[in-house]
Amino acid sequence: MYTDILIIGAGVTGCAIARVLSRYQASIAVIDRGNDIAEGASKANSGIVHAGFDAHPGTLKAKLNVEGAKMYPALCEELCVPYQQPGALVLGFSPEDRKTLEKLVEQGKVNDVPGGRLIEREEVLAMEPNTNPEVVCALYAPTSGLTSPYEMTFALADHAAVNGVQFCLHEEVEDVVRAQDGLWHVTTDKGEHTCNVLVNCAGVGAATIHNMMSDDLLHIIDRRGQYYLMDRMQTLPFHMTMFQCPTVMGKGVLVSPTVHGNLLLGPSAEDSDDELDTSPTAEGLRFVLEKSRLTWPKASVRGTITNFSGIRAHEQKGDFVIGAVKGQKNAYEAVGIESPGLSAAPAIAEMLGGQIAQEMGLEPKAEIVPAIKRPKPFHAMTTQERAEAVAKNPLYGNLVCRCEVVTEAEIREAIRRPVGATTIDGVKRRTRAGMGRCQGGFCSPRVAEILSEELHIPMTEVTKCGGESRLLVGNIHDAMKEGC
Ligand SMILES: Cc1cc2nc3c(=O)[nH]c(=O)nc-3n(C[C@H](O)[C@H](O)[C@H](O)COP(=O)(O)OP(=O)(O)OC[C@H]3O[C@@H](n4cnc5c(N)ncnc54)[C@H](O)[C@@H]3O)c2cc1C
Repeated sequence: MYTDILIIGAGVTGCAIARVLSRYQASIAVIDRGNDIAEGASKANSGIVHAGFDAHPGTLKAKLNVEGAKMYPALCEELCVPYQQPGALVLGFSPEDRKTLEKLVEQGKVNDVPGGRLIEREEVLAMEPNTNPEVVCALYAPTSGLTSPYEMTFALADHAAVNGVQFCLHEEVEDVVRAQDGLWHVTTDKGEHTCNVLVNCAGVGAATIHNMMSDDLLHIIDRRGQYYLMDRMQTLPFHMTMFQCPTVMGKGVLVSPTVHGNLLLGPSAEDSDDELDTSPTAEGLRFVLEKSRLTWPKASVRGTITNFSGIRAHEQKGDFVIGAVKGQKNAYEAVGIESPGLSAAPAIAEMLGGQIAQEMGLEPKAEIVPAIKRPKPFHAMTTQERAEAVAKNPLYGNLVCRCEVVTEAEIREAIRRPVGATTIDGVKRRTRAGMGRCQGGFCSPRVAEILSEELHIPMTEVTKCGGESRLLVGNIHDAMKEGC
């Protein structure tokens, strides 16, 4: 398949860039080895839209974090993605921590972060009374926000798709060469793509792709972060995101509400030699719990509904690597997009998408299709709104996920989106069916039936998350005939 532009990686970075480029007259495809959008770090992170105190002044991380964070409220509104701005506290427990926090306040000023000040123990405890009383001081960051990282990525992809971007999922890039015709030839496990311009946004796989194109080698360290996610039924101990002082390994363990009202503890930070190994470990989770108790002495594993982990793509020089690939024509990249990559994504997309459009001389389209307006989730509707929804579409009357109050109408809508769900996990992340206390124990069979009907595939072909993760191996009738 030939496209003018081929983007490798359907995470938040690749999808945001695809959306920006979809404003121009060019054929564009996004390719990803995952069976869905957002299968890398973009589905497994803290979901914080960082204010921008942390990144060193003068770095791309600092500039794009602050610019991206400012874009979030309007972008979430436009794309119907949840966003809140509860603020954050970075806690200090010692004189050394105070010095670190004072430095962060100064960094914030240089980085042009709005608000932000050092507050003393009494004010910390007045703001968040469940904080460890041994706290000495804190950085108060009023503009720190929360979002849903995978919903943002889906929405960016859907908006790009309605403007003509093609998504090729479950396809892994194995080799990239520039052929004599001047085009990039991209070999995958399914075949070959050719393109004029290649954009590498492959997360933990981005250095491998970069090194296929350039002698100026990059090296990504895979840094795993593990989490506890708590039941929404628990009363939230904090309304802000509670950080501890950052270390060389990252922003440290946080205790934070999610945008959906769960409590999140984590992440750890361990270097790993497997970019795909996201299995949580007893040791990593123990570390998270112990560290969380420094912020919140009552932290306990009771109320945990799941654990998960994500892998940071840490480029060893420490900053984002964004722009044209050195020494190559028509090759661009966003490599080393670790935290605050989610916060920065809208700004990364404007910067790199703008550069590509300008250098390729792309003409803007006469018309851009606006983002599809998502209906309000059933769980958030008033009684009156629910009655109206059921009257218009009776499938709103069929509750499928009891924990998260998700209806059949919403599940079918999620499968029918431009880049719709094709798996049970895809439905879960788009609708929250299966995100609650029972983790899909009740609703998965019904979700599988709906997927089978919508995608016109037998139930035995429906998977949890692609590949061989089928729920059913066959039917009892056939098994009995075969004498099992
Ligand atoms: C534990 C953790 C916590 C974080 N917390 C925050 C936070 O609170 N706030 C914040 O701003 N940022 C946070 N981040 C950072 C943020 O998650 C990332 O910066 C962002 O998701 C990176 O997006 P991406 O699209 O660049 O990479 P990814 O989402 O990883 O996407 C890259 C894609 O490339 C695909 N790919 C890789 N190799 C190939 C190949 N060979 N062929 C085809 N496809 C390929 C992968 O399947 C993947 O889908 C956190 C990250 C982690 C891991």
